[in-house]
Amino acid sequence: PIRVRFAPSPTGMFHVGGARSALFNWALARQQDEGRFVLRIEDTDAARNKPEWTEGIVQALAWLGISESDPHFEGPHFQSSYAEKHRETAERLYSQGRAYYCDCTREQVQERRDNPNLGYDGFCRDRGLEPGPGRALRFQVPDGGPTVVDDAIRGRVEFEHTSIEDFVIARADGSPLFVLANVVDDVEMGVNQVIRGEEHLSNTPKQQLLWEALGHTAPGWAHLPVIVNEKRQKLSKRRDKVALESFQEEGYLPEAMVNYLMLLGWAPGDDREIMPWAEMEPLFRISDVNSSSAFFDEKKLRAFNGEYIRALDVEDFVQRCRPWLDPEVAPWPEEGFDEDAFRAIAPLAQSRVAVLSEIVPNVDFLFLDQPVDDPKSWSKAMKPDTAAPMLAAARERLADPALAWEPEALRAELEAAGGELGLKLGKAQAPVRVAVTGRTVGLPLFESLEVLGRERTLLRIDAARE
Ligand code: GLU
Repeated sequence: PIRVRFAPSPTGMFHVGGARSALFNWALARQQDEGRFVLRIEDTDAARNKPEWTEGIVQALAWLGISESDPHFEGPHFQSSYAEKHRETAERLYSQGRAYYCDCTREQVQERRDNPNLGYDGFCRDRGLEPGPGRALRFQVPDGGPTVVDDAIRGRVEFEHTSIEDFVIARADGSPLFVLANVVDDVEMGVNQVIRGEEHLSNTPKQQLLWEALGHTAPGWAHLPVIVNEKRQKLSKRRDKVALESFQEEGYLPEAMVNYLMLLGWAPGDDREIMPWAEMEPLFRISDVNSSSAFFDEKKLRAFNGEYIRALDVEDFVQRCRPWLDPEVAPWPEEGFDEDAFRAIAPLAQSRVAVLSEIVPNVDFLFLDQPVDDPKSWSKAMKPDTAAPMLAAARERLADPALAWEPEALRAELEAAGGELGLKLGKAQAPVRVAVTGRTVGLPLFESLEVLGRERTLLRIDAARE
């Protein structure tokens, strides 16, 4: 049975690239009854690790549907608790003559080489140094031939041994380097398929040599294409929005996010793009992943999200909006919120927002005492010569107690008021919209007025006319 792993380092926010790797691994683990997805937290960089990052990883995975309670999930295991095993393995490679101690300083190595790019020159290979202070342990790369990495995405990739230096596997203080710890843990955890980002391809020949030196067959390898922004630059956390948490906070639905992430380098075929996880999971094949870089198109993700939002039951939509309506974070006072008014307007909002956080500017006019005050909207919609007479006319017509307070009637009144002033409906309703909602754009105006009620509508028009 397949055993894959996801091995993040808890040194920062959870990156969308990590999320894609996790999902690809998860799909493969879930395809077999006995398939396992091992979560290994690579927490050996004590200076940069923080427990909250580990917590964030587990939560982000759960949000994506990779749940600790699923029988295919194993872990989390922590790399730090395998420290003894890393040391033992390093010693074993030394005692078997596969690794040797080296006391060269960086400067010494550089002095001996005219080309600094060549790396370590093997100076200590035959010096027979014993372990001791200031001595790092280097793996002795075999002299002849290449190491061939058989990558499920990239095909055969050859690495000539002449271009791989005798690399350090343990520092002078005995602590293991990433290449070693990562392999030892994969061996310990019975991993037989490694799927990770392309940036690790250059480590792979070294790791394959280690697997073989330890007497094991290397796992299957698959290196995922880089994810790039619209300028074709690799997504970076300094430049681009990459934290899964940011998308979550903006109101992306996990199912839309999962759907979109799965398409970064893979496609289910038949030109289908919107496809729920349950249908994708059995179709996913690692060998179908494309090796060229994948464009993270936020516009497209937004469009996906809008489609997923529109597919929700209204009740589900209402529930999912809750975090943004919470008086702790919402811009209106706690007593301003009106559940019935929200429910009344929710279907209109559901058909318009692309991300859930957009619900707030669409409904705040209902819950704030005064609509938001945005001078730009006023100057756009309140042309002095038309706005004042239009608001006056609207005030008079909407105040008529005989008028039924429902969208069709409201529309007819504003249309008639505008007509008398030579204004088309669009122009005629603009100042009313700004007076009532504070904005030039928003939900359909007449439905909004219906929910807001006659009294508050008139008060706002009066306030705007002052
Ligand atoms: N901790 C490594 C990383 O986050 C894991 C690499 C791997 O998957 O082997 O990049």
